[in-house]
Amino acid sequence: QVVTRFAPSPTGYLHIGGARTALFSWAYAQNQGGKMLLRIEDTDRERSTEAAVTALIDGLKWLGLHWDGEPISQFGRASRHAEVAHELVKIGHAYYCYCSPQELDQMREEARAAGKPPRYNGYWRDRDPSEAPEGVSPVIRIKSPLSGEIVVHDHVQGDVVFKTENLDDFIILRSDGTPTYMHAVVVDDHDMGVTHIIRGDDHLTNAARQIVIYNAMGWTVPEMAHIPLIHGPDGAKLSKRHGALGVEAYRQMGYLPEAVRNYLARLGWSHGDEEIFSTQQMVEWFSLEALNKGAARFDFVKLENINGHYIREADPAYLYQIMVDTAREVGRDTDVEGLTANHNTVLAALPELQPRAKTVLELIDLAQFIYALRPIQPDAAAAALLTDDSRAVLRSVAETLGGLAEWSVPAIDSAMRVLAEEKGLKLGKLAQPLRAALTGRTVSPGIFEVMVLIGREESLARLADQTA
Ligand code: GLU
Repeated sequence: QVVTRFAPSPTGYLHIGGARTALFSWAYAQNQGGKMLLRIEDTDRERSTEAAVTALIDGLKWLGLHWDGEPISQFGRASRHAEVAHELVKIGHAYYCYCSPQELDQMREEARAAGKPPRYNGYWRDRDPSEAPEGVSPVIRIKSPLSGEIVVHDHVQGDVVFKTENLDDFIILRSDGTPTYMHAVVVDDHDMGVTHIIRGDDHLTNAARQIVIYNAMGWTVPEMAHIPLIHGPDGAKLSKRHGALGVEAYRQMGYLPEAVRNYLARLGWSHGDEEIFSTQQMVEWFSLEALNKGAARFDFVKLENINGHYIREADPAYLYQIMVDTAREVGRDTDVEGLTANHNTVLAALPELQPRAKTVLELIDLAQFIYALRPIQPDAAAAALLTDDSRAVLRSVAETLGGLAEWSVPAIDSAMRVLAEEKGLKLGKLAQPLRAALTGRTVSPGIFEVMVLIGREESLARLADQTA
């Protein structure tokens, strides 16, 4: 059975790059009928607060990426990490090193002077522990192979060869008995039965060191896929401005989780030229072979377009709930109130609003005409349409509307056409100031639909406000 894992370090949020790693690990497990496990790499006790862990978990849940079983705490496994380190000493693949910081400094100096990269020279590798100095707690170092190569057989990068002469005898257990990151990852992945590791290619050189540990224990090395990191649109490292944010920032900007999933899937993985696909399709199509070797570039415009697609397709009741939740989350209390108090009207209006919005925030802006308080404050563009001339027209409009027998889109539509003809105006010349007066905006759903949505009384009252 395929077992993947997502192994984030809690930093206070689920970073967009981490979200993509999780998505791929999840999709591959799903595709293979396997499992994805969640391991929280919480050995940095300063950063790994409960809030940071919750933020990670919330991010995964929002994205709809579920893991199997309970999240595993790496910190909680420290004694097992120590056990394996001691086991490695026992079987002769690791050793105690008693070097003092001064000795290590000197070693680095000597290496530098000899024009070699500064690294541990294996001083205690074959030394008898009876030579150990008094009162020094040793670290445990792994015996890296002295010659040959370590090859990472990677599903994305191909065979990546590391010369062992470049790997020193790195520390696996510190003198205080805590494991190094390198060691903990291997022990955890092994004990969790991980068969496939999918992660950022910033871990590729770690993979070589980790393989040294696998080999020393005689454990099977999992399959690996190191995916290129996400870059900014300019090809440089992804910056905050260019999208290096936590997923909750995307939620607050009004992106739907299915849109973010779809977009992230396209960042570094492809299925022909398909841009829009459901998560289920992604799972069906997913393969490690189709992961891209080149760095993906984050593109907000593409994300917006995909989001617009999902907003158009979404069920109004579902969107309504997201609008309320988003407004609440970003502190738009007036919108929360307005949306809640006008639940049915907003629901009825949504099919008109959906094609006009690319984010949930835009959707909320578009819905504001429903609950805007009178007198409506027109924005600058709308105010420009409310001239003396157009006000005069609007007064006739109000009169006509007041006498209508039936308040429906066809009835309003035909009455307005007749009026426009009488006045020698194009229908648009009449509709534009009408929209400005009724919604305070120059963009809205069809203005006759707007009138039906807010009702006759409110429509006439808003018209009166602007023509008084
Ligand atoms: N905790 C590491 C990170 O957040 C990932 C380690 C791994 O995937 O092996 O980058």
